[in-house]
Amino acid sequence: MTFADFHCDTLDKILDNNQSLLKNNGQLDIMRLLNNAQNAISIQAFACWIDSNNPQPFIRCNQLLDKFYQQYDTNKDYINLWTGGDFAPSKVNAILTIENGSALMGKLQNVEYFYNRGIRLITLTWNGTNELGSGNVGGNGSGLTNFGIDVVKACSSLGILVDVSHLSDNGFTDVARTLNNGEAFVASHSNARAITNHPRNLTNDQIDQIIARNGFIGINLYPQFLGDSTDDILRHCDYILSRGGEDVLGFGTDFDGIEQMPKGINGVEDMPKVYRLLSNEFGAKIADKIIGDNLKRVIKESI
Ligand SMILES: [Zn+2]
Repeated sequence: MTFADFHCDTLDKILDNNQSLLKNNGQLDIMRLLNNAQNAISIQAFACWIDSNNPQPFIRCNQLLDKFYQQYDTNKDYINLWTGGDFAPSKVNAILTIENGSALMGKLQNVEYFYNRGIRLITLTWNGTNELGSGNVGGNGSGLTNFGIDVVKACSSLGILVDVSHLSDNGFTDVARTLNNGEAFVASHSNARAITNHPRNLTNDQIDQIIARNGFIGINLYPQFLGDSTDDILRHCDYILSRGGEDVLGFGTDFDGIEQMPKGINGVEDMPKVYRLLSNEFGAKIADKIIGDNLKRVIKESI
Protein backbone atom coordinates (compact mmCIF):
# COMPACT_ATOMS: atom_id res chain seq x y z
CA MET A 1 0.00 0.00 0.00
CA THR A 2 1.04 3.61 -0.64
CA PHE A 3 0.03 6.94 0.88
CA ALA A 4 0.81 9.66 -1.65
CA ASP A 5 0.01 13.36 -2.07
CA PHE A 6 1.06 15.53 -5.00
CA HIS A 7 0.70 18.97 -3.37
CA CYS A 8 1.38 20.75 -0.11
CA ASP A 9 2.74 24.21 0.73
CA THR A 10 4.63 23.18 3.86
CA LEU A 11 8.01 24.49 2.65
CA ASP A 12 6.59 28.00 2.40
CA LYS A 13 5.15 27.80 5.94
CA ILE A 14 8.26 26.39 7.62
CA LEU A 15 10.60 28.82 5.83
CA ASP A 16 8.61 31.88 6.87
CA ASN A 17 7.95 30.61 10.43
CA ASN A 18 11.42 29.16 10.93
CA GLN A 19 10.00 25.71 11.70
CA SER A 20 11.04 22.13 11.10
CA LEU A 21 9.88 19.78 8.35
CA LEU A 22 10.13 16.87 10.77
CA LYS A 23 7.66 18.22 13.33
CA ASN A 24 5.73 21.49 13.27
CA ASN A 25 2.38 22.93 14.31
CA GLY A 26 1.07 23.31 10.74
CA GLN A 27 -1.08 20.93 8.71
CA LEU A 28 1.67 18.50 7.64
CA ASP A 29 5.03 17.18 8.80
CA ILE A 30 7.27 14.17 8.26
CA MET A 31 6.48 12.48 11.60
CA ARG A 32 2.75 12.54 10.92
CA LEU A 33 3.31 11.21 7.39
CA LEU A 34 5.37 8.32 8.77
CA ASN A 35 2.77 7.62 11.41
CA ASN A 36 0.09 7.41 8.68
CA ALA A 37 2.15 5.14 6.48
CA GLN A 38 3.05 2.47 9.07
CA ASN A 39 4.17 -0.27 6.65
CA ALA A 40 2.97 1.54 3.53
CA ILE A 41 5.17 3.52 1.13
CA SER A 42 4.93 7.27 1.78
CA ILE A 43 5.24 9.79 -1.08
CA GLN A 44 4.85 13.53 -0.52
CA ALA A 45 5.36 16.35 -3.00
CA PHE A 46 6.69 19.62 -1.53
CA ALA A 47 5.87 22.68 -3.61
CA CYS A 48 8.10 25.73 -3.93
CA TRP A 49 5.23 28.21 -4.23
CA ILE A 50 5.95 31.65 -5.63
CA ASP A 51 3.44 34.42 -5.03
CA SER A 52 2.50 36.20 -8.27
CA ASN A 53 3.67 39.57 -6.98
CA ASN A 54 7.04 38.30 -5.71
CA PRO A 55 9.64 40.57 -7.36
CA GLN A 56 12.41 37.92 -7.06
CA PRO A 57 10.80 34.56 -7.93
CA PHE A 58 14.08 32.79 -8.84
CA ILE A 59 15.63 33.74 -5.50
CA ARG A 60 12.49 32.80 -3.55
CA CYS A 61 12.39 29.38 -5.22
CA ASN A 62 16.01 28.76 -4.32
CA GLN A 63 15.39 29.83 -0.72
CA LEU A 64 12.57 27.27 -0.48
CA LEU A 65 14.84 24.59 -1.95
CA ASP A 66 17.61 25.58 0.46
CA LYS A 67 15.17 25.15 3.35
CA PHE A 68 14.25 21.68 2.10
CA TYR A 69 17.87 20.60 1.69
CA GLN A 70 18.81 21.94 5.12
CA GLN A 71 15.98 19.86 6.67
CA TYR A 72 16.83 16.85 4.48
CA ASP A 73 20.53 16.90 5.43
CA THR A 74 19.72 16.68 9.14
CA ASN A 75 16.85 14.17 8.81
CA LYS A 76 18.02 11.57 6.28
CA ASP A 77 16.82 8.76 8.54
CA TYR A 78 13.27 9.93 7.85
CA ILE A 79 13.34 11.54 4.39
CA ASN A 80 14.37 10.18 1.00
CA LEU A 81 14.64 12.76 -1.80
CA TRP A 82 12.92 10.95 -4.66
CA THR A 83 14.06 11.99 -8.14
CA GLY A 84 13.32 8.71 -9.95
CA GLY A 85 13.82 4.97 -9.46
CA ASP A 86 12.82 2.97 -6.41
CA PHE A 87 10.97 4.28 -3.37
CA ALA A 88 12.50 3.99 0.08
CA PRO A 89 10.45 1.97 2.59
CA SER A 90 9.91 3.47 6.06
CA LYS A 91 10.94 6.99 4.97
CA VAL A 92 8.94 9.79 3.38
CA ASN A 93 9.81 9.87 -0.32
CA ALA A 94 9.87 13.62 -0.98
CA ILE A 95 9.32 15.02 -4.48
CA LEU A 96 10.25 18.65 -5.12
CA THR A 97 7.94 20.76 -7.28
CA ILE A 98 7.62 24.38 -8.41
CA GLU A 99 4.24 26.11 -8.18
CA ASN A 100 4.46 29.07 -10.55
CA GLY A 101 6.78 29.05 -13.58
CA SER A 102 7.64 32.66 -12.73
CA ALA A 103 10.58 31.03 -10.88
CA LEU A 104 12.20 30.48 -14.30
CA MET A 105 12.43 34.27 -14.85
CA GLY A 106 11.70 33.75 -18.55
CA LYS A 107 14.95 31.81 -19.09
CA LEU A 108 14.71 28.35 -20.65
CA GLN A 109 18.03 27.20 -19.17
CA ASN A 110 16.50 27.57 -15.71
CA VAL A 111 14.34 24.48 -16.40
CA GLU A 112 17.51 22.39 -16.40
CA TYR A 113 18.92 24.40 -13.50
CA PHE A 114 15.92 23.47 -11.33
CA TYR A 115 15.93 19.88 -12.63
CA ASN A 116 19.50 19.66 -11.30
CA ARG A 117 18.26 21.00 -7.95
CA GLY A 118 15.79 18.08 -7.81
CA ILE A 119 12.60 19.56 -9.25
CA ARG A 120 10.42 16.91 -10.93
CA LEU A 121 7.13 18.78 -11.55
CA ILE A 122 6.37 22.35 -12.59
CA THR A 123 2.94 23.94 -12.10
CA LEU A 124 3.18 26.30 -15.08
CA THR A 125 1.19 29.18 -13.63
CA TRP A 126 -0.32 30.27 -10.37
CA ASN A 127 -3.08 32.88 -10.10
CA GLY A 128 -2.55 35.78 -12.50
CA THR A 129 -0.31 35.84 -15.55
CA ASN A 130 3.38 34.98 -15.85
CA GLU A 131 5.96 34.52 -18.64
CA LEU A 132 4.47 31.11 -19.54
CA GLY A 133 0.78 31.95 -19.75
CA SER A 134 -2.29 32.82 -17.75
CA GLY A 135 -3.81 31.29 -14.65
CA ASN A 136 -7.52 30.47 -14.50
CA VAL A 137 -8.01 32.95 -11.65
CA GLY A 138 -6.91 36.57 -11.96
CA GLY A 139 -5.38 36.18 -15.43
CA ASN A 140 -6.62 37.13 -18.88
CA GLY A 141 -7.45 33.53 -19.83
CA SER A 142 -4.98 33.41 -22.70
CA GLY A 143 -3.12 30.25 -23.73
CA LEU A 144 0.59 29.49 -23.44
CA THR A 145 3.18 31.97 -24.69
CA ASN A 146 5.99 30.79 -26.97
CA PHE A 147 8.14 30.61 -23.85
CA GLY A 148 5.47 28.50 -22.12
CA ILE A 149 5.45 26.08 -25.06
CA ASP A 150 9.27 25.84 -24.93
CA VAL A 151 9.12 25.12 -21.18
CA VAL A 152 6.59 22.30 -21.72
CA LYS A 153 8.91 20.76 -24.35
CA ALA A 154 11.97 21.13 -22.09
CA CYS A 155 10.14 19.51 -19.17
CA SER A 156 9.08 16.63 -21.36
CA SER A 157 12.61 15.94 -22.58
CA LEU A 158 14.18 16.20 -19.10
CA GLY A 159 11.59 14.14 -17.20
CA ILE A 160 9.75 16.89 -15.36
CA LEU A 161 5.98 16.43 -15.16
CA VAL A 162 3.89 19.31 -16.49
CA ASP A 163 1.14 20.41 -14.11
CA VAL A 164 -1.98 22.17 -15.42
CA SER A 165 -3.51 23.00 -12.03
CA HIS A 166 -4.12 26.78 -11.90
CA LEU A 167 -3.64 27.06 -15.69
CA SER A 168 -6.27 28.73 -17.91
CA ASP A 169 -8.51 26.48 -20.02
CA ASN A 170 -6.76 27.78 -23.16
CA GLY A 171 -3.42 26.95 -21.58
CA PHE A 172 -4.63 23.42 -20.86
CA THR A 173 -5.45 22.99 -24.54
CA ASP A 174 -1.98 24.25 -25.50
CA VAL A 175 -0.26 21.80 -23.12
CA ALA A 176 -2.23 18.91 -24.65
CA ARG A 177 -1.32 20.14 -28.15
CA THR A 178 2.38 20.61 -27.33
CA LEU A 179 3.04 17.24 -25.71
CA ASN A 180 3.20 14.10 -27.84
CA ASN A 181 -0.02 12.23 -28.39
CA GLY A 182 -0.66 10.14 -25.33
CA GLU A 183 2.11 11.71 -23.22
CA ALA A 184 0.92 12.09 -19.63
CA PHE A 185 0.49 15.38 -17.81
CA VAL A 186 -1.19 16.07 -14.49
CA ALA A 187 -3.53 18.33 -12.57
CA SER A 188 -1.78 17.98 -9.22
CA HIS A 189 -4.43 19.69 -7.09
CA SER A 190 -7.76 20.29 -8.87
CA ASN A 191 -11.26 18.81 -8.60
CA ALA A 192 -14.26 18.33 -10.90
CA ARG A 193 -15.96 21.52 -12.12
CA ALA A 194 -19.22 19.62 -12.70
CA ILE A 195 -19.42 19.03 -8.93
CA THR A 196 -18.06 22.39 -7.71
CA ASN A 197 -18.26 25.10 -10.33
CA HIS A 198 -14.98 26.93 -9.82
CA PRO A 199 -12.42 27.82 -12.52
CA ARG A 200 -9.69 26.08 -10.45
CA ASN A 201 -11.50 22.79 -11.12
CA LEU A 202 -11.40 20.65 -14.29
CA THR A 203 -14.05 20.54 -17.01
CA ASN A 204 -15.39 17.17 -18.14
CA ASP A 205 -13.34 17.39 -21.32
CA GLN A 206 -10.17 18.13 -19.34
CA ILE A 207 -10.83 15.18 -17.02
CA ASP A 208 -11.37 12.94 -20.06
CA GLN A 209 -8.12 14.10 -21.69
CA ILE A 210 -6.09 13.38 -18.55
CA ILE A 211 -7.70 9.94 -18.29
CA ALA A 212 -6.96 9.22 -21.97
CA ARG A 213 -3.26 9.97 -21.33
CA ASN A 214 -3.09 7.97 -18.10
CA GLY A 215 -2.08 11.16 -16.28
CA PHE A 216 -3.12 12.15 -12.77
CA ILE A 217 -5.79 14.22 -11.00
CA GLY A 218 -5.15 15.12 -7.35
CA ILE A 219 -8.20 15.92 -5.21
CA ASN A 220 -7.73 19.29 -3.48
CA LEU A 221 -9.18 19.63 0.04
CA TYR A 222 -9.80 23.40 -0.08
CA PRO A 223 -13.55 23.83 0.67
CA GLN A 224 -14.01 26.47 -2.06
CA PHE A 225 -12.99 23.87 -4.67
CA LEU A 226 -14.31 20.77 -2.88
CA GLY A 227 -17.24 21.52 -0.57
CA ASP A 228 -16.94 21.60 3.18
CA SER A 229 -17.36 17.99 4.28
CA THR A 230 -15.59 14.67 3.81
CA ASP A 231 -18.69 13.54 1.84
CA ASP A 232 -17.60 16.03 -0.80
CA ILE A 233 -14.30 14.15 -1.21
CA LEU A 234 -16.39 11.09 -2.05
CA ARG A 235 -18.62 13.07 -4.45
CA HIS A 236 -15.68 14.40 -6.48
CA CYS A 237 -14.01 10.97 -6.49
CA ASP A 238 -17.24 9.24 -7.50
CA TYR A 239 -17.71 11.65 -10.39
CA ILE A 240 -14.16 11.24 -11.74
CA LEU A 241 -14.46 7.46 -11.31
CA SER A 242 -17.74 7.54 -13.27
CA ARG A 243 -15.84 9.09 -16.20
CA GLY A 244 -13.32 6.24 -16.10
CA GLY A 245 -10.72 7.78 -13.80
CA GLU A 246 -9.95 4.72 -11.66
CA ASP A 247 -6.26 4.74 -12.63
CA VAL A 248 -5.58 8.51 -12.54
CA LEU A 249 -7.34 9.65 -9.36
CA GLY A 250 -5.45 10.57 -6.18
CA PHE A 251 -4.74 13.48 -3.85
CA GLY A 252 -3.11 16.88 -4.06
CA THR A 253 -4.31 17.95 -0.64
CA ASP A 254 -2.94 21.51 -0.54
CA PHE A 255 -2.15 21.16 3.17
CA ASP A 256 -0.46 24.30 4.54
CA GLY A 257 -1.74 26.21 1.51
CA ILE A 258 -5.35 26.35 2.73
CA GLU A 259 -6.72 28.24 5.70
CA GLN A 260 -9.88 26.09 5.86
CA MET A 261 -10.38 22.33 5.64
CA PRO A 262 -13.45 20.10 5.32
CA LYS A 263 -15.17 19.32 8.63
CA GLY A 264 -13.43 16.46 10.40
CA ILE A 265 -10.05 17.10 8.79
CA ASN A 266 -7.44 18.98 10.78
CA GLY A 267 -4.33 18.04 8.87
CA VAL A 268 -2.45 15.18 7.28
CA GLU A 269 -3.01 13.06 10.40
CA ASP A 270 -6.59 12.56 9.19
CA MET A 271 -5.70 10.94 5.85
CA PRO A 272 -6.07 7.38 7.26
CA LYS A 273 -9.65 8.39 8.09
CA VAL A 274 -10.09 9.52 4.47
CA TYR A 275 -8.75 6.15 3.33
CA ARG A 276 -11.35 4.35 5.45
CA LEU A 277 -14.13 6.49 3.95
CA LEU A 278 -12.89 5.71 0.43
CA SER A 279 -12.65 2.03 1.23
CA ASN A 280 -16.20 1.90 2.62
CA GLU A 281 -17.55 3.72 -0.42
CA PHE A 282 -15.57 2.22 -3.31
CA GLY A 283 -13.93 -0.92 -1.88
CA ALA A 284 -10.31 -1.50 -0.87
CA LYS A 285 -8.95 -2.04 -4.38
CA ILE A 286 -10.05 1.40 -5.65
CA ALA A 287 -9.30 3.09 -2.32
CA ASP A 288 -5.70 1.83 -2.51
CA LYS A 289 -5.35 3.33 -5.98
CA ILE A 290 -6.75 6.72 -4.88
CA ILE A 291 -4.81 7.00 -1.63
CA GLY A 292 -1.47 6.43 -3.34
CA ASP A 293 -0.97 3.74 -5.97
CA ASN A 294 -2.05 5.91 -8.91
CA LEU A 295 0.36 8.70 -8.05
CA LYS A 296 3.16 6.19 -7.54
CA ARG A 297 2.43 4.79 -10.98
CA VAL A 298 2.40 8.09 -12.86
CA ILE A 299 5.64 9.38 -11.38
CA LYS A 300 7.40 6.05 -11.98
CA GLU A 301 6.27 6.11 -15.61
CA SER A 302 6.96 9.77 -16.33
CA ILE A 303 9.98 10.81 -14.26
ZN1 LIG B 1 -2.11 25.84 -5.73
